[in-house]
Amino acid sequence: MANTPVTLAYGDGIGPEITQAVVDVLMQAGAEIDFEQIEVGEKVYLAGNSSGIDEGAWESLRRTKVLLKGPITTPQGGGYKSLNVTIRKTLGLFANVRPCVSYHPFVQTRHPNMDLVIVRENEEDLYAGIEHRQTDQVTQCLKLISRPGTEKIIRYAFEYARRNNRKSVGCFVKDNIMKITDGLFHKVFDEISAEYPEIQAGSWIVDIGAARLADSPEMFDVIVMPNLYGDIMSDIAAQITGSVGLGGSANIGEHCAMFEAIHGSAPTIAGQDIANPSGMLLGAVMMLVHIGQGEVATLVHNAWIKTIEDGIHTVDIHREGSSSERVGTKAFAQAVIERLGRKPGKLPAVEYSATREPIMSEKVTTGRPQQRKDLVGVDVFLDWSKGVPDDLGSKLKELAQPDFDLVVITNRGVKVWPNGYPETFCTDHWRCRFRAVAGDHIATHQQVIDLLQRIGDAGLDFIKTEHLCNFDGQPGYSLAQGE
Ligand code: NAD
Repeated sequence: MANTPVTLAYGDGIGPEITQAVVDVLMQAGAEIDFEQIEVGEKVYLAGNSSGIDEGAWESLRRTKVLLKGPITTPQGGGYKSLNVTIRKTLGLFANVRPCVSYHPFVQTRHPNMDLVIVRENEEDLYAGIEHRQTDQVTQCLKLISRPGTEKIIRYAFEYARRNNRKSVGCFVKDNIMKITDGLFHKVFDEISAEYPEIQAGSWIVDIGAARLADSPEMFDVIVMPNLYGDIMSDIAAQITGSVGLGGSANIGEHCAMFEAIHGSAPTIAGQDIANPSGMLLGAVMMLVHIGQGEVATLVHNAWIKTIEDGIHTVDIHREGSSSERVGTKAFAQAVIERLGRKPGKLPAVEYSATREPIMSEKVTTGRPQQRKDLVGVDVFLDWSKGVPDDLGSKLKELAQPDFDLVVITNRGVKVWPNGYPETFCTDHWRCRFRAVAGDHIATHQQVIDLLQRIGDAGLDFIKTEHLCNFDGQPGYSLAQGE
C-alpha cells in the first residue's frame, strides 16, 4: 500500500527540535507516511503574511487532510491573529481531544490515579474573536454558542467515551450566570446523554468543577466543555500529571484533522535541546490511530511508556528518586527508538486497533424543526456621559413613542433606570431596552429603524442594537439584573 501523505509544520520556539524528535521516532517505528513540509507561524508573519500561513500550505493541508504541527508563537495582546485558531476554524476541526494521564510512580505527581480526557469545543465561544471597543471606556467580546456546534461536540464526547470504554462523561458550564449560552450547552448535554444510557453523565458549574479537577482529578473520566474552559482546564490537567510537556492533542473535524502538543512554543527554552517531545509524540500517536496505522501507534506508545518507566526523563519531569537519567530532547527520542518493540513492565501497555474507524459519521446534528421567531423589542446601546441615568431615562421615554416603551436602562448589566441607586458605578456604556407596544407586542424592522432615527436625531450616539426575540413564545434574551 502507498504511504499516507501527512502535512508537517515544525513550528516556532521549541517546535523544530521536538518535531524532529517525533519524526525520527515515527520513521524508525516504520510509520508509512510521506511528510510534506510546510512553513507556518513566525517566519511567515515576519515575511509580511499576517495570517501566518500561505496559499501553498493550505493547498497541502486540504489535500492530505492531516497535519502534524509543532507549537506556534502567537503575539499576546495586539499583533497577528492566532494561526492555531485560524487553522482549527478554517478546517472545521470542531473537537479538541486532550488525554491527561499520570505515570505514577515514574513521573512525580500529587495525583497518581489520574486518567482523564478533556474534549474541548474548538470553534466557538469567545474564540470567535469578535471584539469591539464600543466607547471610550468599554470593550466587548462576543461569546457565540450554537446548537449545531454544541450537538457535534457533545455527541463526539459520548461517541469517544463509548469507543474507548470510558465510564462517564462530565460537562463543565457556567449556566448559573450565562443562562442562554452555557445554558444551551448544558441543555444539549442533557438531551444527548439520554441517548447513551450505559455512560454515566453529570454536569458541573465550571468553577467548582475546576477546583475538583485540580484537587481530585481521579474522579473524572471524559469531560466535555466549551472552548475557553477547555483550553484552561486542559493545561491544568496536563500540568498536574507531572508536566504540561506530557500532553498530546488531537483536533478532529469532519474532513481534516490536526495533531500537536497541548503546550506552546516555550520560547525561553528553545534551541537548548532540553524540551520534552512527549506531548507532540503522544499527539503523533493519536495521528497514527487516525490514519489507520494503529500497529505503529501501539509500538511507539508502548516504547514511550517504557522509556518513562525506565526513568529516562527530560528536565521538566526529572526528579531525584523517580528518575534514573536526565536527557535532552534528542537523547530522549533515541531512548524511545531503542525501546521500539518493547512493552512497559509496570505501567499498563496500550493496544490500538490496526484499522481506522472514524469516531463519528458526517451526519451529526439532530435536525430539530426551526422555531417561530417574533421580534418583541430592541436593546439599544448608547455611548453617553452627559448626566445621571434619570436624565437619559426621561429623554428616551419620549423618543420611544409611538411604537415602543422604554422599560429599563442598565449599565454593565445592572439596572440604573427606573429607580436605580446612586451608589451603582456607571461607565459611558448604556443598554436601553425598548419593548413593542402594538396590540400583539410584535415589532417590525422599520419600527426599529425609526426608533434609531429618532435617537440619532436627538443627538444621542447609538453604538449597537440587539433584537429581543421570542422563539416559540419563549424569550431569547436575558433579563437585566434588577429588571
Ligand atoms: P508554553 O506552553 O509554551 O510554556 C509554558 C511553560 O511550560 C514554560 O515554562 C515552558 O518552558 C514549559 N514547557 C512547555 N512545553 C514544554 C516542553 N515540551 N518541555 C519542557 N517544558 C515545557 O506556554 P506560554 O509560554 O504561555 O506560550 C508560549 C507561546 O506559545 C505563546 O506565543 C503562545 O501563544 C503559544 N502557544 C501555542 C500553542 C499551539 O501552538 N498550539 C499552544 C499554547 C500556546
